[in-house]
Amino acid sequence: MSKDALLREEIARLTAYHVPDAADMVKLDAMENPYMLPLSVRESVAKKLLDAPINRYPDAEAKALKQALRISLDIPHEAAVMLGNGSDELIQIISLAFSKQDAVMLGLEPSFAMYPIIAAIAGMRYVGIPLNADFSLDLDRVLHALDEHQPAVVFVAYPNNPTGNLFALEDLLTLIKKAPGIIVIDEAYYAFAQESFMPLLKQYENLMVMRTLSKQGLAGLRLGLIACAPKWHDYLEKLRLPYNVNTLSQIAALEILQYGNILQEQARQIIEQRERLLANLQALPGVEVFPSSANFLLFRVAQATRVFASLKKRGVLIKALHSAHGLLKDCLRVTVGRPAENAIFLTALTESIDETSAS
Ligand SMILES: *Cc1c(COP(=O)(O)O)cnc(C)c1O
Repeated sequence: MSKDALLREEIARLTAYHVPDAADMVKLDAMENPYMLPLSVRESVAKKLLDAPINRYPDAEAKALKQALRISLDIPHEAAVMLGNGSDELIQIISLAFSKQDAVMLGLEPSFAMYPIIAAIAGMRYVGIPLNADFSLDLDRVLHALDEHQPAVVFVAYPNNPTGNLFALEDLLTLIKKAPGIIVIDEAYYAFAQESFMPLLKQYENLMVMRTLSKQGLAGLRLGLIACAPKWHDYLEKLRLPYNVNTLSQIAALEILQYGNILQEQARQIIEQRERLLANLQALPGVEVFPSSANFLLFRVAQATRVFASLKKRGVLIKALHSAHGLLKDCLRVTVGRPAENAIFLTALTESIDETSAS
């Protein structure tokens, strides 16, 4: 018997998550915060790390960090909190937790690429419900899908990635009330939208709210968080591997949170640059740009694949989404960078569009 027969078919079919090499490029592909922390903050983090007891295992519950996050993120005291090695890990833990035989994960499409990938890994059946052409939620279709597929878990990115929009609050409330299972509102871009379901945790027992520090400026620390009813938390805890949040991340994040307004101030600058970049893209002939409540912009051009390649040749890396979903035909996504980076991108984009439309 070939050893290949030992492999799970759905895993064999997956392609491993590919991260493109961005060395020496203007890197606007991954929704990172383009700003370093001020030197004084980095120095005080470095000082704390100097005494980090890395010969010991981490605080398994990350008590101090959790408490600081509760305050900084305004988490209702009724909710329990679990930390993850990035929110990707939490999506995986939630999926594993509800992956009974034939259990369904429902997602909206297009949305975050990891939902269907993690569903496959966890052995859940993934059902994707297309958004409307303007990327709003098709409530009738979603309600029908709840009925038909009885999903154990529904993942909603709010704002959505890669489209950047917030779905209508009323629609999501209907969804939460009608869902037969859990609804996870993934608020990875909260810092740039300032709209949250966190206060509603008290009201809806089937609601989970997920956050991450990644898009806000701490992507390298790998820190995500899920807030939910204690009963779900206690169940999820059984799936969390011990020490999933390492000592250096715990200490660094705790220290940086003492300067909370720095991350907020950077988010404010990014929002300002987002609006400027939006206006500049709106003014470019041949570009259709979609408004965004996140730190990136989705836009459409005539020949996205060629424009993407031409940008890359000019040293600018963004994200090509043309083949990701039917609704994203000829779409590209650019992360909001520093003003100088955005200017380089705009020049390169203008040249790239000229080049591809000339030939
Ligand atoms: C980036 C992103 C994540 C993953 O964030 P990490 O905490 O870095 O793992 C989760 N959800 C959405 C919608 C994202 O865009």
